[in-house]
Amino acid sequence: MRIFKFGGASVKDGASVKNVSQIIRSYKEDKMLIVVSAMGKMTNAFENLIESYWLTDILEEKKLTVIYSFHHKILTELFPLNHIAFTDFEKNFELLRSAVFKGKGDSYPAYYDQIVSFGELFSTRLIHYYLEEDGLFNTWLDARKLIITNSNFQNADVDWDKTTERVHEFVGEHGIYLTQGFVAGDVLGNTTTLGREGSDYSAAILAYVCDAKRMTIWKDVDGFYSADPNQFDQVSKFEKLSFHEAIELAYYGATVVHPKTIQPLRQKGIPLWVKSFVEPEKMGTIISSDEDIVPEVPAFIVKKNQFLISISTRDFSFIVEKNLSKIFNICAEIGVKVNLMQNTAVSCSLVLSHDTVKIPQLMEVLRQDYDVKYNEGLDLYTVRHYTEEIIQEIKGNHRMVIEERNQRTVQLLLK
Ligand code: ASP
Ligand code: MG
Repeated sequence: MRIFKFGGASVKDGASVKNVSQIIRSYKEDKMLIVVSAMGKMTNAFENLIESYWLTDILEEKKLTVIYSFHHKILTELFPLNHIAFTDFEKNFELLRSAVFKGKGDSYPAYYDQIVSFGELFSTRLIHYYLEEDGLFNTWLDARKLIITNSNFQNADVDWDKTTERVHEFVGEHGIYLTQGFVAGDVLGNTTTLGREGSDYSAAILAYVCDAKRMTIWKDVDGFYSADPNQFDQVSKFEKLSFHEAIELAYYGATVVHPKTIQPLRQKGIPLWVKSFVEPEKMGTIISSDEDIVPEVPAFIVKKNQFLISISTRDFSFIVEKNLSKIFNICAEIGVKVNLMQNTAVSCSLVLSHDTVKIPQLMEVLRQDYDVKYNEGLDLYTVRHYTEEIIQEIKGNHRMVIEERNQRTVQLLLK
């Protein structure tokens, strides 16, 4: 069995949907499972639709129209006007409209999942019909009934046993199956989601449960690069990466694959291909249990707009005793991810990606017990397999705020 994942950029208009169908045809296997994200940047449009409505109770109709028109245009590019794909879309769009107005309960995350998941619903319904028109008979599966999670909305945790049961119930021995990435469901029937960019993870969950032979993520780049070509002059494409290297790079912020994707694949030794949907004939990158990294070049990840918080105990108590776990719990509760940390005896520094809502909230909570200082507008460089020359080159004329190294990785926080 083979698992394919197509992200938003690969299904952003009529022509790209046709391209997806061609790719599926040319790699067709006896049993395939295809995971698709919302079309183009639609997830942002759904977020935009509900964010202000949640706070103000005023819905700007034009925000709904944006979503409607975007999909409607793609439908007209692919189907004659009397095609059932239109009626299906109109019906689901009415469901969206009533969910927006009637679905507001007490929890924003629960509401978010219910609404934003329509992006994947629209995309997979449309692609289901297009593949059929194109001669690729396929079974559309509802991910809310396939991937079962707890009710931790917006970042749900997978129930592996229940998901395994469901997958065996719904996925047969042969044929093409199509489902939504990012979307899942809890046992009560509520829609949940796996976190932004979570479709890669959906595909990996299904690959794991199905014991797939391989998984392919189709991207607008032809593989996993050693750095972002927009930020560095010398970049190389990795032909091969180990699971270990890939999980480290994804963790530090390489955006090619979602960091949670690697773990289920590694556990079952399922190789992951990262390939280009624009140039599918190119080799791409293979990520596997093989420990080789080819070529053996340093990898760079840059995170801009970092926020440094320095936290000190007021009573001169040691930071690692009790305080650290407390600070990390606060971070987890507010939902901020620590990109780098450094301790001294009575203080610790946390580097976080800037967030105009969560950071002030975090500072306020920390100030109840600690002295807190901050510094903003910093850049965090992470280099795997660094050399001294590389470090000097990156430092350049910048002021160094923090440097952390171990044998393989250096992190530089620069002003
Ligand atoms: N559509 C979702 C997002 O944009 C999930 C994904 O694309 O992976 O975050
Ligand atoms: Mg994506």
